[in-house]
Amino acid sequence: MGLDRPGRDWVERLEAVTAEDVRRALAAAPGSYSQNRLLTLISPAARPCIEEMARLGQRLTVQRFGRTIGLYAPLYLSNRCINGCLYCGFNCTGAFERTRLTVDQAVAEAEIIAAEGFRDILLVSSEDPKFITVEYLSELAGRLRERFSSISVEIYPLSTAEYARLFAAGIEGVTLYQETYDRRVYGRYHPTGPKSDYDERLQGPLRTALAGMRQIGLGVLLGLADWRLETLALAEHAHYLMKRFWQSRISFSFPRLRPARDVADSQFEHLVGDADLAQMILALRLCFADAGLVLSTRESAAFRDHMAGLGITRMSAGSRTNPGGYGSRAGAVEQFAVDDQRPPAQVVAMLRGKGLDPVWKDWDSAFLG
Ligand code: SF4
Repeated sequence: MGLDRPGRDWVERLEAVTAEDVRRALAAAPGSYSQNRLLTLISPAARPCIEEMARLGQRLTVQRFGRTIGLYAPLYLSNRCINGCLYCGFNCTGAFERTRLTVDQAVAEAEIIAAEGFRDILLVSSEDPKFITVEYLSELAGRLRERFSSISVEIYPLSTAEYARLFAAGIEGVTLYQETYDRRVYGRYHPTGPKSDYDERLQGPLRTALAGMRQIGLGVLLGLADWRLETLALAEHAHYLMKRFWQSRISFSFPRLRPARDVADSQFEHLVGDADLAQMILALRLCFADAGLVLSTRESAAFRDHMAGLGITRMSAGSRTNPGGYGSRAGAVEQFAVDDQRPPAQVVAMLRGKGLDPVWKDWDSAFLG
């Protein structure tokens, strides 16, 4: 897919964008993708136009999604991992007591999440293939189907046949971040374990689409490499999938590096500021009118409040990033430190205060039936 080239030509093109180019890109009909348009909107030359991008992004989002924000909660299943990702608190080299939830324990956690109002749940796990198996996830999905209208997973890459089994079990979405599209940087941060195979991970979303998954979540871990180059590669990946698989809805997430156990974010060279992230979100909105844009509790309450309604369509709330964190094992090691720690009711009140309608059910499922 040509996503791992050094990006030198992208750097030169980004630097060459003029104010006139930005004006033309903003005047064009919003919502359609071309690499040149996206490149123009994320360029340094577009930064002074961020308020106008926000206005256009808000209008386009209301046209396509109404004044709604879907709410979801992650449920972490295991923090035992066979990979050595250098930015993660679950890294296999960490010496701490690992926690795995049995299916019964996971159902008990999900009950707490459901009692808060959520009907959209994301099952998250480290790469723990001896325990978090297709059978485990299928059984869990079967137990959760009555309580949740949408069940999706964020786990290690599977084969097409395995994704198809998850889909048959009622799991309709898969989120799989490439972390970074820069092959050299990828190698540096993923020194050991199956995740060190860049191409295997890159092909994962294609396999989910081939298996018929309705929702495919893409993203990069912002902070590992230059965010502008990552945005261009991410968009190319999404565009490739959108052209081939019209029945799958693509969404983008924007995870920024967060402090984690034995990981200080100060060691990373490409940390992404609020203005950068806002520009990235708005540029993607203006190029992909129908894409879901997801903002998690990794972000601060202030940033989430500001971006709600300006392109974001889905937010988590009240999240715990440790297995058992909602109830039984509150002390288990978390994957990263959550920033927005408000309970879901407060996030709901914030959204209503901005004239937005929080939707506990998954928006797509509600409309696609
Ligand atoms: S990022 Fe995922 S795969 Fe990597 S160490 Fe953490 S839990 Fe494991």
